[in-house]
Amino acid sequence: MKVTKVTSETCFNLLVTGLVDLENAYELKGGITHPYPQNLQRALNQLALLSLRTNQPIIQSLGQVLKFCKTTPLINWPVDFSQIEAFPIDELEEIYLLENIPEVRTTEYCQEFAQDVIESNKPGLLQREVYTQIKNLTLRYKTIEEKDTIYREVREFLARHAITTLHERVSFKLKCKAKPETVEEEIFNVVYTHSVPANKFINDKIARCKLCGSLVTMHNDTMTCAVRKCDFNISKKKKDLVNFINPDDTVKLAAPDIRYYLVSPSVPELKLRDQAEKLKCKVTMWPGLDSYDLLIVCPDGYKFCVDVKDWKSASGLAQKCSETGFPMSDIKKHGIEGDKYCFVVPDAHKVNKPNYKEVFQGHSDAEIYYESELIELIQSHV
Ligand SMILES: [Zn+2]
Repeated sequence: MKVTKVTSETCFNLLVTGLVDLENAYELKGGITHPYPQNLQRALNQLALLSLRTNQPIIQSLGQVLKFCKTTPLINWPVDFSQIEAFPIDELEEIYLLENIPEVRTTEYCQEFAQDVIESNKPGLLQREVYTQIKNLTLRYKTIEEKDTIYREVREFLARHAITTLHERVSFKLKCKAKPETVEEEIFNVVYTHSVPANKFINDKIARCKLCGSLVTMHNDTMTCAVRKCDFNISKKKKDLVNFINPDDTVKLAAPDIRYYLVSPSVPELKLRDQAEKLKCKVTMWPGLDSYDLLIVCPDGYKFCVDVKDWKSASGLAQKCSETGFPMSDIKKHGIEGDKYCFVVPDAHKVNKPNYKEVFQGHSDAEIYYESELIELIQSHV
């Protein structure tokens, strides 16, 4: 694939052609319609990236761009055009915004970049808040086992219910060991802030993926699960994998932040658990109040401590893993040590980028496996 780096020049060129395209589309369609012309959308993405790189406020909308075009000399935009060329570009930032790639990939790259590189910009804030709230629910319990049970119950409920009915929430509250009113106030009221928009319904019903609990929508006669990496999207029997829910005011959708940063990352984690359990392993999710993702105890007693990392950028991930690693003092404190500590990436990354692991290893000494490699390793301990 031809890689072209994002610079002020590429951005400016795209912006100009994008605006011309917009004008043509305006004439043709009698107004500004969505999606925007491709060049314009890429220009908007690049502007956002350029602002992030230099820690400046992001230009939020097309309206803002048009206003800047009319009123503000380029040199005064909140994108430091003079600084860009001097900014070191590593693989993390080779975000292929110039390539004609599906929008969703661009969005994921930008989220990774935004979430973990630029501290002053805090997407994922709500998700972090919710993790803290879940931990607060465990405070009145003494042992780490009791705390972990509550944490696991709530976290898995959220991970499996991007969409939830009133009935599901009520039965969960009754079943869960934490106080029902606290779960309602501190968790549900914070997480389930949205309704499913009617234009996403399929035949007047809300369609929910049976595999991950997320919204399924229909486009050109094809059903798609909102979690792109969900196995639903590669299944040949999609119809069997959908639940239809009657829409009413009590059916709730998790806030976007929760869907991106809690539901979506949990999909490969829970998939790995299911695979390991099939091999007769005993798996504990998020042990030690989320010290890592999975403690896998093999039938022969060998213990894998695993953190699943679904990052597109191998060097970005390497940097992150080298910085944070496994929190060994917490792990020792909670008695959840293992024989091997490793990071695991879904196989999809090997398909998209065959040298993913090599790039990672070029930047970090941390142990890393593809998901299928870990399964093979587990098999040697059965
Ligand atoms: Zn799904």
